[in-house]
Amino acid sequence: MGKGYTGKILTVDLTHRDIREEIIPDDVYERYLSGVGLGAWWLYNRIEPGANPLGPDNVLGFVSGLLTGTGALFTGRWMVVGKSPLTGGWGEANCGGYFSPAIKRCGYDGIFFSGVSDKPVYLSVNPDGAGLHDASHLWGKDTVETEKILIRSATGKKKPRVACIGPAGERRSLIAGIAHDRGRMAARAGLGAVMGAKKLKAVVLAGSERINPHNRTAIRTLNGKCKKFVQFQPPFVTGPLTAYVGALMRWLPTQMAMDGMLYKIMLRKWGTVSMNQMSVEMGDAPVKNWIGSNKDFGPRKSRPVNPDVFTDRELTKYHCFACPLGCGGICKGTGKHEKTHKPEYETVLSLGGLCLNEDPDSIFYMNELLNRAGMDTISAGGAIAFAIECYENGVINQDDTDGLVLTWGNTDAIVALLRMMIRREGIGDLLADGVRVAAEKIGGEAGKYAIHAGGQMLPMHDGRNDPGFALHYSVEPAPGKHTTGSQMYYEMFRLWKKVKDLPTPFPIYLKWAKYRTDIRKVRMAAACSKYMAVVNGAGGCLFGAFLGADRLPIFEYLNSATGWDNRPEAYMEIGERIQTLRQLFNIKQGIEPKNNMASPRVLGRPTLSAGANKGRTLDMEKMMADYWSQFGWDATSGEPLPKTLDRLGIGINLESKGE
Ligand code: SF4
Repeated sequence: MGKGYTGKILTVDLTHRDIREEIIPDDVYERYLSGVGLGAWWLYNRIEPGANPLGPDNVLGFVSGLLTGTGALFTGRWMVVGKSPLTGGWGEANCGGYFSPAIKRCGYDGIFFSGVSDKPVYLSVNPDGAGLHDASHLWGKDTVETEKILIRSATGKKKPRVACIGPAGERRSLIAGIAHDRGRMAARAGLGAVMGAKKLKAVVLAGSERINPHNRTAIRTLNGKCKKFVQFQPPFVTGPLTAYVGALMRWLPTQMAMDGMLYKIMLRKWGTVSMNQMSVEMGDAPVKNWIGSNKDFGPRKSRPVNPDVFTDRELTKYHCFACPLGCGGICKGTGKHEKTHKPEYETVLSLGGLCLNEDPDSIFYMNELLNRAGMDTISAGGAIAFAIECYENGVINQDDTDGLVLTWGNTDAIVALLRMMIRREGIGDLLADGVRVAAEKIGGEAGKYAIHAGGQMLPMHDGRNDPGFALHYSVEPAPGKHTTGSQMYYEMFRLWKKVKDLPTPFPIYLKWAKYRTDIRKVRMAAACSKYMAVVNGAGGCLFGAFLGADRLPIFEYLNSATGWDNRPEAYMEIGERIQTLRQLFNIKQGIEPKNNMASPRVLGRPTLSAGANKGRTLDMEKMMADYWSQFGWDATSGEPLPKTLDRLGIGINLESKGE
């Protein structure tokens, strides 16, 4: 009988070409789970303060989830962790596909790289062992080509699973990601640049070990109950009508608590693009580099990116490992590319509404370019919108843009600028390192137009519509991510049904109540952070978590997989420990948490004069202080207090615990 995890990791010192197995004690899993928790535990003590993220002292980890491969549904996600060259602090990026089970089938819960290779290499792990191989012939190739070559050249019986970088990572673009399965991306935090700096082109896994949970029958029983919710699929409105549903939501003075079943129905029908128009209309999606609104990208302009446009081009649905839902899609490609991944909501709005680009063909094309280059689409869209606003305001001109007329909605110029970013040519070289770096180098007024949190460009969810997003952008140890919490996420997670003493949301409430800063909201935000740390330790998918903790039974899955008998509250404490250790990582690396506050514009400073979020402003200083207090961190500095570390058992027995 197993415990779901393998109890081992692989460490690879690229400088000395030294590859070792390390045994991880059970108590590490009991305290941190696997996935992001194991990653934080391993990295905290192994990256020295002030380590250069692009130097040999950074450690880059590929971690699987504790539940991956146990049979539990929605648990095939893997993560990359390391010190982020984009933010200077804790960096993490999450991805689906089939790489997470591949890590475990090699017999490991994680693979960690330190040092720097003197020439391009890739790591392969298969039943014959692990080894580093020359990757000179792959250097310069895009992610799709690289993966194809590595799969074709594999000699074993088993098809390998590959994670690799493209030219963006090789050129150390600080917004480079790591690709898998023909362009799915662990996109955020610039960890592709870390891989490029280590001259590690790819990780190729073809293991065949079995993953054994404690009680497979119990997991199957839990699956049966969960599947009923996934399969429920009544007919829903057509794509263009979603804009009017969003407009109605904007117009109503009240709001209903969101049930993840509604989102699940949309996700299954269209994928994440289901929200393209609805989000703009209701004020969830930022427009025109966060100064616009639904007035600038209304139903007529955004109709070309309505959800049906994307499913019309879908050839087949795409499921990650162990996923019964399949929100992804493989679509007809553009130009010389026969097939392409369906762009995600974040991609469509970053390269669409944020730049006022109405052309869906260009979005399909840029999505493929970015996936092949190995560059984050959210950050790329944010950087282009920043450059357009600089141009429109005379901060840069045609001499700076190599002749591009960089105006709002100029599709040709947007595509051309993206190509310059990927090749690091001209102004594209600055933008390839994100808006914070670009604004510092451009100088003048440029900083006003650089929208980010802690250096990371922001996703397509507006804190002026749901303040929870702005709070999580600002307080998460990996700032500027939309995959942890918001008021709406809390409603969908339904944690109060499982965890004692958590607030139950009002089923219907007046909208203005969302903007009142009160302790209930901060408790909800803290619960989201803890819960998503558990989900990410388990290898769970956020969209599965949206079903609700009573419908996707993560806590019960964990007990069945490991043989533990933890109550949900005990898992939430594990989430708190993971969050606190990541915060400690940032403190150790010299990050001042208050400096991660999202850009003023995102907080309604100044307020918008039109559109769904007109007149709204957030008291983010108070929200951040209250959130830190909820965790037992100092309300002024955001530093975890000694008594909190004692309570969580962090810092005790430093040697054996690894912290
Ligand atoms: S819901 Fe979508 S992202 Fe999540 S596991 Fe399924 S296919 Fe992957």
